[in-house]
Order: sequence, then structure tokens, then C-alpha cells
Amino acid sequence: MSREEFRFTCELPNGLHARPASYLVRNTQNYKANITLHNIRNRQEANGKSVLSLIAADVSFHDTCTIVIEGEDAGQALKQIRYFITHELPACDTPLDGKELSRRLPPSLAHLKLDACYGQATDDGWAIGAPVWLKEYRFSPREDHPVYSGVTGERLRLLGALKHVKQHLKSAIDNAELVAEREILNAHLALACDPDFQSRLLEHVDNGLSVAESIEATLEHFSRILESGENSYLRDRVIDIRDLCDQILRLSYGSGRLYSPDFLMQNSICLADNLTPSQFLALDKRFLKGLVLQTGGKASHTVLLARARGIPVIVGAKGARELMTQARQVILDAGLGLLISNPREQVLRYYQQEERKSQKQRDRYEPFVSAKAITRDGVAVEVAGNIVGIDDAELTFSSGAESIGLFRTEMLFMERSQAPCEDEQLAIYRSVVRLAKGRTVIIRTIDLGADKPVDYLNLADEQNPFLGYRAVRLYPQFLEYFKTQLRAILQAAALGPVKVMIPMITSVDEVIWVREVIDQVIEDLTLAGKQAGAIEFGIMVEVPSCVFIIDQLAQHVDFFSIGTNDLTQYFLAADRGNEKVGHLYNRLHPSFLRMLNKIAQDVKAHNKWLGVCGDMASDVRTLPLWVGLGVNELSLIAGHIPEIKEKLSHLDFPACRELLSKILSCESSESVEKLLRQCRVESGVHPALDKPIIAVGFDALSKEEVIKELVDLLDLDGRVTNPQSIEEAIWKREAVYSTGLGLGIAIPHCQSNDIYSDSIGIVRLKNPVDWQAMDNQPVDLVFLLAVRKSGTSEGHMKLFASLARKLVNDTFLAVLRRCETADEMLKVLKLELVELVEYTK
Ligand code: PEP
Ligand code: MG
Repeated sequence: MSREEFRFTCELPNGLHARPASYLVRNTQNYKANITLHNIRNRQEANGKSVLSLIAADVSFHDTCTIVIEGEDAGQALKQIRYFITHELPACDTPLDGKELSRRLPPSLAHLKLDACYGQATDDGWAIGAPVWLKEYRFSPREDHPVYSGVTGERLRLLGALKHVKQHLKSAIDNAELVAEREILNAHLALACDPDFQSRLLEHVDNGLSVAESIEATLEHFSRILESGENSYLRDRVIDIRDLCDQILRLSYGSGRLYSPDFLMQNSICLADNLTPSQFLALDKRFLKGLVLQTGGKASHTVLLARARGIPVIVGAKGARELMTQARQVILDAGLGLLISNPREQVLRYYQQEERKSQKQRDRYEPFVSAKAITRDGVAVEVAGNIVGIDDAELTFSSGAESIGLFRTEMLFMERSQAPCEDEQLAIYRSVVRLAKGRTVIIRTIDLGADKPVDYLNLADEQNPFLGYRAVRLYPQFLEYFKTQLRAILQAAALGPVKVMIPMITSVDEVIWVREVIDQVIEDLTLAGKQAGAIEFGIMVEVPSCVFIIDQLAQHVDFFSIGTNDLTQYFLAADRGNEKVGHLYNRLHPSFLRMLNKIAQDVKAHNKWLGVCGDMASDVRTLPLWVGLGVNELSLIAGHIPEIKEKLSHLDFPACRELLSKILSCESSESVEKLLRQCRVESGVHPALDKPIIAVGFDALSKEEVIKELVDLLDLDGRVTNPQSIEEAIWKREAVYSTGLGLGIAIPHCQSNDIYSDSIGIVRLKNPVDWQAMDNQPVDLVFLLAVRKSGTSEGHMKLFASLARKLVNDTFLAVLRRCETADEMLKVLKLELVELVEYTK
């Protein structure tokens, strides 16, 4: 009888569940040989010809398994099964709804049996609560038979309702707590005033339809138009029209017989097919902890409203209803796009661990919120914030922004049927300047067009919108909009330091033209007796043509700010939103970095101020590069501000300069990346053994919790770029053989490029946990060896063996187990493990 065996790693994101298992069985069932699957991670064994048995083996994503085939036709079976598993099985599972857009689960969560469904992740944050299915209001005029009162009567009814709805919206705008809410209510008001909308409603009534029927027909008409388009953003707008129609209906017939908001009595995760902004606003926010929308996109107003209030949301979670019907409690994880029903204790513990980690992260960065952004050797690099309105301006300043480096004003012009007037803009700019309390606010004039279209400009479709009619190129045609905005900005500048920044500049001519318009507007304001404040005038460097005329531009402007998002796409000819060329959109391309260096040199040669406001400024990895380039300011999204300030405090200016010169001679982005990593290593802030990565008395129930804790310790100490990939690397090894060495010790380990410096994380457990150790003894002392990949794998194994040798000494172990604190343990280890520490230096 022949025997064959082969090993594979499960590449199915949802594991080997029923459907892929049944495909596997189709390939095994016709052979006489016995076929067995062994899941190395959990030691489960399964009959390869039984779907149920295969499912019971609980094969998860990235589990390593062996297939053993025994029988006379083993050789033949091996060929077919191996081919199927290697080439076809990975494609056997079409993703669950929305799953392709959600992130992979971290192993410490993926290993827990979850009763869950997936939607699209929207933002970070998670919540727990009782599931509440929000009733959906569907008005059916034919079923409800509202009394028809003739054309005149219906006309009066409709006009009255329209008047009321406008009044109602206006007072809601006055009472709105957040600017995001006000903006969306404004958009609804604009819709209610829309002449097409009104005339269509009235036309139907004049043609003999009841108000209800007219509303239904109007809603259908506009929905059809919006839904027929490719643009998901526009499809998300249908819900706004429905919302308005609902309101007009209620006001036409009395609210009692129609939709009324749901009452929330306890912390709730609310589910709805879709939810209109008004329904959302009507919910009691004290109890609304999370939101699951089965349909609708991430850009819907309801999602924006929820995010403005910090309420986690997932969208497109189609299986949610079934999942929730039997649930008493659910967890919604917006970062993973995950909805878990009736979470078991292990799952609750996972989230408690996450919460503790977030709290520690907040604590770690907290001192940097109010600290000045400065390198270790005292070089200041202003850390500013990017904002779109007053809400995030508040958040940005409370996160420690030293100024506003980019106010993307075009957001104030979107989502509405006409541009905001001077007064409306002035009120917003003034609020931001007041909030800044003397800190600079760089207001960028409108960057509309391309990916930021607005209906009322009636711009024609273009073949290459990013290379087309956008930003400053629109200003001559829409001069009044531009001047109105400048009037508002200049008046707001009377309250505090304001700089005006122009997007998409490509030539000196454009700059001269804009400067003339600004001077003209200042003159007009003065003539009108209005006060214009002094401003600094600058441009974004986001089109490569600018790079070679910095000397000429510098004659006309006060400052420059690099827009890395667009500059990268124009320089590398790779659309920033096109995933297919995503690999070419590479900000560490040596050529791109040389261009950044040229910009910095030329701007400095002309004694001008240089900022960076593209997303690259938020990328912690690139921080030494910016310091080396000597930029004056980095402008980021609020969430990254304290971390960037903290990281900055570890860097030295001369070391960053030296690094820059090395980077500029790199031939590939990989070598640039390597140098950036090394910079962290060489700055010497991370000895292999250190107090922050030792935990004594950790209370864990499982191996998963211990490994997560160790990775969290490394992450909190700023040693890793991607904690999830470290966890995955550890589990990959753990799947091949257990790292439980006996005597209550385990040494999980991994080699990865996501580690800045070789690290030995240590956890002494309060109570031992099972580790499938060689001697079956549960484990209470765990040493994580995390080694950088750029070292040799031989070095990794040496380190491992050397640590293992030390740990078989009973006396040493007893001493370690008696240590009460991380300090004590560190002392003991440093004495005993001198050679290890030396090795990892
Ligand atoms: C940029 O291009 O880097 C930039 C900040 O502008 P936006 O992302 O708004 O186009
Ligand atoms: Mg740009």
C-alpha cells in the first residue's frame, strides 16, 4: 500500500467552510485511498471525503495542514488533490458580502469561533450593545388611501406641507449641534427649495394625482435618474430625496399615522436596511452605540453624520438581519467591518484587551498633545492639521495641532445645490480662526472638479478629469465664486493669522493672475468699508511643472506646501484612485524623493517657508526624511498628530540629514524603505530587552490572548509597523510546531520586516495556559522572539537556541517566577542573558 503526504496553507479568507469543503470532497471521493486532513494548529484530524468532518477540523485562514493519502491509488490521488488545493481551492470561495472590502481578521480573533457577518469597514472603533432593528418606513399611498380632496385641496395641502418642511428644516439647522449636521440639513433645505423638485410635485397634483401619489411619482423619478448612474456617490443621495419626501408626506397628512422614530432604551447597535439622515437625527444618541446599514454606501449622509459623532458604522452587511434576530447582544467592529452576534467570553475578552491597548496608546501619546513638536536635538518642525470644517478643526486642535496646514474649503461647496454665500463662508472661516487662538490657519481656495464635482457648476464630463478642468483652472470662468471666497477669507483674516493657498498651480502666469485678483478684492473691500486682514499668499506644489520654476514662483509667493497626493500621481503618471496602478503610485520611488529634495533645496535657497500637506506627511515611516529635508511644517489628519510628535522627539537632525543623503543614492524604493527602518534601529531607542515589553502577572485564558498581549506590548513600545502581520507570522510558526518547550515555558518567535528592532517580549502569566507543549504542561512564562528579517535566519535560530539553553536551568527559572515586577525581571534577565542582549544589539 503506498502512502503520500503533502502540506499546504489555507488561503481561504473565510477558512475551509461548507462550500469550499464540498469542492474538495468532489476531488477526493472517487479514490479508493484513505484521505486524511490534519490541521496542525489545532491537531484536528478529518476524513478528506466528508464535508462535515472537514468543516469540523476548523481550518482557518493561514492554517497549515497536511493531507495524508494511503492506498493503492495514492499516487494518482495526490496529483489531482494537490493540483486542486494549490490552484483551484483558493478561488473556491467568492467573498462574503462586503468581505472583500473588510480587513483580514487578526489571528487572535480569527481563532475564536465567531457567529458573525461582514460589511464594509468605514472607520476604526467598535461598540457593544443590544441589537435593535429599526423599523423601516415605507409609505404606500395605495394602501393608505389618504382622502383625495380635489385638485385645489391637494394643491393647498402640498404647498402647506412644503412651507412647513422648509420652516422645520430651518429651525433644525439653527439647533444643530454639529456643523456636519447643519451642512446636511442645509443640503435638504436646498433640495426642498429646488425648482425642479417643486414643479414636478405640483405638476402631478395639477394632473389629478393626490399629494401622496405625486410624492411617490416624484421620488420614483429622481431615484431612477440617480440610481441608473455608475456613481455610487450619487446613488447614496437617493436616501436624501426619500428622506425629504417622507417629511413632506408626514406634514401633508399628520405625523401620527406615518413614521415615528424608534425609542432606544439601552445601549443599542441599530440595524436598518437604510436609514435617512432625519431618522438618524431623531434617534436618542445617549443609547445609539453603533449602526449597521444593510444597503447604501460609505459616503451616505447618514454614515457621515454617525462618524461626526464618533458612532462606529458598517455598511453593506447583508446577512445582518438573520444574524441579529436571535442575538441578545452584538459587537460591531467598524475597523474590521465585522458584526458579531452573542459574543462568547473569549470574544469579549479580546475586545477588553483591545480597549486596554487603546487606552495605553492614548496615555502614551497624551503628553505630546500639548508638547511642542521638536526633535531630540531641538529642531522644531511644526505639526499642523488638515481639516474640512469647524468640527474637525476642534478635534485637530484638541489633538495637539500647532496650526492648520490645509483647510480643504471645497467641502463647504459640495453636497448642495448652490455655492455658499459670502456670509456663510465668513462665519465658518471666522469660527476656525477664533478656534485657532492665534495659531496660523492656511485656507486653501476651492479645489473643485476631478474627484470633487458639484452639480451647479455644470461641468461637462471629461475623459481625464484629473488632467482636466479643476481647481485654479476654473477660477477665471467662475470668477465670482472665487472672489466671494476671497472676500470671506480676507475678512476672517482680520481676526487672526491666515494664509491663502492656491491649488494646482502650474505656471508663474497663474500666480500673477491670482495675486491680481486678490489685490482687486482687497481694494473692493476697503472701498466698501470692510476690514481685510493681512494675509500670506502661497501655492501648493502638486504639479511637477512647478518644481523647476521654484526660483521664479518665489518672487511672487510667501510660502509653498507640497501636495504629495497629486504630485505623486502626476509625477509617476499613476492615477491616485486607480487600484490597478496602485503599485506604481509609490511615494518612496527614488526619483520622486530626488524631486522632493530639489523642492526643499530651491525653496530654502529663496528663503521661503515650506510645508507638506499630502497624506505622506502622516506616514510615520517617512518622518526622518522630512526632518532631513528641513521642511518647516507637516500637516496631518488629527489622529496622527500626537504620534508624529512623539516619534519626532526621538529623531536627531544630523542623523536625518545623513540618512537623506544615503536615500538620495538609492536605486529602489525597497532600499529606501530599508534605510528608513534602519534609521529607527540606529537611533538606539529600542534595546532587545526593556521594561515596557515585559508584563508580570498577566491574566490570560488562552494562547491567543498571550500572543496578542506580547504583540501589543511591542506595538505600544513603537517597535512594529504592522502588529497584525507580526501576529500572523508568529501563528504561522506555531502551526508547524508548538513553541511550548516544556517546564511551563514557551518561546513563540518570528522573523519579519515589520519589526524595527530585534525584541524579546516577556509575559509571566497569573495562571498557566495550555500551549500544546511537548510535556503537556501548561505554560506560565512566555518569551516572544521577534527578529528583523534583514538579519540572517541562522541568527534567528541561534538566538532561539541560546535562550532555550538558558531557560532549562531550574534555579534561573525559579528566580524568574518569583519576580514581582517588570523591573525586577529585567534586572535578573540582564544579568543572565548578557550574551543575548549583546547579540541583539
Ligand atoms: C494633495 O494633492 O496632496 C493635496 C493635499 O490635495 P488633495 O488631496 O485635496 O487633492
Ligand atoms: Mg491635491
